[in-house]
Amino acid sequence: MIAMNKHYGELQDSYLFYHIGQKVKAYEKEHPGVPLYRMGIGDVTLPLCSQVIRALHEAVDDQAVKERFHGYMPECGAPFLREVIAGHYGKRGVALSQKEVFISSGASDELGDLLDLFGRESTALVLEPAYPAYVDASILAGRNVLHLASGRENGFLPEPEKGLKADLIYLCSPNNPTGAVFSRNQLQSWVNYANQTGALILFDAAYEAFIEEPGLPRSIFELDGAKTCAIEICSLSKTAGFTGTRLGYTIIPKALEREGMNLNAMWVRNRTTKTNGVSYILQKGGAAVFTPEGQKEIQENIGVYKKNAKVLMKVFDQVGLWYCGGKNAPYLWLECPKGMKSWEFFDYLLREIQVIGTPGAGFGSCGEGYFRFSTFGSPEDTVEAARRLEKLLE
Ligand code: PLP
Repeated sequence: MIAMNKHYGELQDSYLFYHIGQKVKAYEKEHPGVPLYRMGIGDVTLPLCSQVIRALHEAVDDQAVKERFHGYMPECGAPFLREVIAGHYGKRGVALSQKEVFISSGASDELGDLLDLFGRESTALVLEPAYPAYVDASILAGRNVLHLASGRENGFLPEPEKGLKADLIYLCSPNNPTGAVFSRNQLQSWVNYANQTGALILFDAAYEAFIEEPGLPRSIFELDGAKTCAIEICSLSKTAGFTGTRLGYTIIPKALEREGMNLNAMWVRNRTTKTNGVSYILQKGGAAVFTPEGQKEIQENIGVYKKNAKVLMKVFDQVGLWYCGGKNAPYLWLECPKGMKSWEFFDYLLREIQVIGTPGAGFGSCGEGYFRFSTFGSPEDTVEAARRLEKLLE
């Protein structure tokens, strides 16, 4: 009889979004036709920008012409896209060769697949509250998971504690769900810890494009010593609206080695075994994001989400509730009023003002008592949700 991966049994039910869905459905059944304001969504709502659409159309046309047709693409990514992404980092002062850039189908795929590089005995550290995929992917790969809680006292940005023992460290900045962003010094403390102990950082930069404050690191490779201890995972999902189109990239420096093994070379070996590359059409669309016109257009879209954030922040400032995020991230992380628990606050908002957010308890136990609002909704819904929140909470 075949032996199964028993770790599936250790996964907690992904109860958060299922449970939200159930509660919303029940409300809709009891209150047919009543409009709801969905401020919990992690998906974007604006379409792809015109530069990307044009590039995608052109690439489709290429596939119809013998001379311009592309079959299998290189497993690690098309040189034209690897090159422009390396150039994009170069403009921010991070020198990369195109061979250090790997094109992927998105950050989620990579967060799971990269675990192939590490031995089963390695322990994964997850800073909580956290994007649930870190814990689940680690459990499925049979890894021991350590949880490092954070809270209001450290702005939800924990630093390595004395005696901490971890092999693989998941860092996410700007963070989902808290919207908090590591300062250079805070991130440097993790880089130093990893270099001193031989640990390795998986740096999830899915929201880097939302950072507007100068001086905050958008890439871990802006810090001294990061190239010998970190892998960076990026995505065009939130940066450029590719959630349904699927494209990302991962940076693995050539200088990254552990136990005499080179991680860049290992990943080339892994990709050439496990993928046949990302589609030519999508990579052409992705390359358009990095043109000056593409950058301008995606910034306009990000600007719409940032305006939503401002509308919500104004209300929370007015009613005097503690929150973080919003300024450099598409999420706001709010302390529930009057000592309410996350789910209690969820029910209260749905019942009283038909606003739907995400209970913080769904992102790890230290998220209890907090609540996530997303800024990816439409401006109209956001303004109305903000108006209702202000009236309810003032
Ligand atoms: N990382 C974080 C922190 C996310 O919030 C998300 C999606 O919400 C992802 C990764 C997944 O990104 P992708 O769409 O590229 O798989």
